This record gives sequence, structure tokens and C-alpha cells, in this order.
Amino acid sequence: MLPFKLVYSDDYYLPIGTHVFPAEKYRRIHNRLLETGVAEPKDFVTPQPASDLDVLLVHTPQYVHKLKTGTLSAREELEMEVPYSPELVRAFWLAAGGSILAANHALNDRIAFSVGGGFHHAFPDHGEGFCMIHDVAIAIRRLQRDDKITRAMTVDCDVHQGNGTAAIFAGVRVPSRSLPSTAPSALSPSAAAKLRNAHAGDVFTISLHQENNYPAFKPPSSIDVDLPDEIGDDDYLAWLDNALSSGLRQFDPELLCYIAGADPYREDQLGGLALTIEGLKRRDELVFRVARARDIPVMVTFAGGYARKVEDTVTIHCNTVIAAKEIFSAPKLSS
Ligand SMILES: [Zn+2]
Repeated sequence: MLPFKLVYSDDYYLPIGTHVFPAEKYRRIHNRLLETGVAEPKDFVTPQPASDLDVLLVHTPQYVHKLKTGTLSAREELEMEVPYSPELVRAFWLAAGGSILAANHALNDRIAFSVGGGFHHAFPDHGEGFCMIHDVAIAIRRLQRDDKITRAMTVDCDVHQGNGTAAIFAGVRVPSRSLPSTAPSALSPSAAAKLRNAHAGDVFTISLHQENNYPAFKPPSSIDVDLPDEIGDDDYLAWLDNALSSGLRQFDPELLCYIAGADPYREDQLGGLALTIEGLKRRDELVFRVARARDIPVMVTFAGGYARKVEDTVTIHCNTVIAAKEIFSAPKLSS
């Protein structure tokens, strides 16, 4: 049995027809985890859909009304890049409910997974890039409203910048600035990535992403690491280490929301980085080790993954669960 919960529903299927987004990946992750003995049926918990009030903690009443009544404009639907249907609305509400549940479990168990979440391109007033509503932001705002946390950090390792996250949580801040490529850490990545820093509000947002990729306009996160094309495992991990170290020097979160996209993988159809499956697991291990060492609860979402072989995407996501199992089952070293 796992030392944490996996929030999952068989209804985690996005009804979007033939699409580059592998809507069936959630069921495949669930099945693979059971077949390989990584998880048992009782490790899974079933979510309820978020309430409209939960969704309204992040999204505008006008946008929620359009979603509930099917009155998005053609342009708005195009921008979302998934075909609107009432069933799709229900699927996204369920994913948001799943992330709320997982965030609550994370506070109790130190880590929990929202298998159906990570829709980081949704803005308060519109959807983008396969994302209708922002489940992670909704979960954070719900926990804040319930007085369970005040400060959260998002660590977004999807290959695409977390533009919705950045826009939603833009606090009081100074204009972003480019820092030299010598990042403030003992580890010196060789690739010429850029680390940009902006002030944060009550949610500190970190995004590591391919600079030359969607979204074209990247609203500033608290820390953005703009990675060059084709960056490999070691450089990526060094930049992640830098960003985490820098972020945790500036900010002390009570919850870390890890957006563990599978699309930095070198075989991804929508990504241009060159991480291996092993490198992606090392990435997960790094985030979990840092969070565990500092006793920061972690809520994990899976976000994107468009490998040429869907099985690879499933492997990468399942490896994130395995990494958590290894790290959170091990005895904690005392400092
Ligand atoms: Zn992505």
C-alpha cells in the first residue's frame, strides 16, 4: 500500500474526440499502476466535482456562466483548442474537485496525487491550450478560503510555460528582469537558459519551460526559467535545482503544487526539449526530496504529455508515482 493517496475517477476522460491530447491516459495510468503492483485499489480515492463556488474563487462569473450555458464565442472555443461540450465542462469540474481533494490529502499525508489535473493554461476569464479551468489554482484558493494554508508554491515542469498560473497569481511585483545565466547555485548548468525573477504575492510561481514554444506571450511567473531547445537531463536538473533553491530562499510555502508534465520528454510531439524517461524520474525525485527535507506537503498533477507512443507518456507519469513511493517510504534523515 502506498503511503499516500491517488485521486482518480474512471470519469477522468476528456470527451474531445481524436486529439493530440491522449484523453485515455488517465485510465491507462490507473491500470498500469495496478498491473505493476505499484498501487493497490485502496490507494485510489474518488473525487466529487468542484462546486461552482469553488470555480468562482479563480474564474470570473462571466466566464463560468458561458461555460455552464454553452455560450462561448467561436474565438473563445478555438483558443481553448478542445471542442466545447457540457460533458467536457463536467470533466473539468471533476478534475478541479480532484485537485481540491488531493491538496487536502497532501496536508495530511505529506503528498498526494491529482491524477486528472494540471490545467495550467486556463486564465480567470478564458481557457487556452487544452485547459478550460485551472484546477490547481482552484485547489489553492479553496484551501486558503478554508484557512488551511496561506502560502503556496507552484513548481511547473511542463514543457510549456504556466501562463494561466502566472496570470492568476500575479501578486504585487516589480517588472521581471533577466538574470545572467550563472544562476545562484553551486551547480552551473552549461546551457544558456535564462532565469527571470519577479516578486510574488501569496502564491509563488515557478515555471521551467522551453522558451521557444507555446505560449508566445509568457506572463511573468515569480521565477521563469526559459530553457533553450534540446536541453538534456543534466542541464535541466541543474536549472530545476537552481530555481527551487532560489524560490525557497525567497518564500516559505505551506503547500507545493508540482505540475509534473511529461512533455519535456525528447519524444514528445509538442515539446522541443530532450529529456529521457530516466531524467524525468530524476526530476521528480529532486522535487520530492527537496519538499520532504523541508516538510512541505506536495500536491502532484500530471498536466501535458504527447509522446509519439502514449505508452511512454503513461510510463513517465507512473514513474512520478514510483519516485514518490521511493522517497516518501524511506526513513527521513535527521538533520
Ligand atoms: Zn505542456
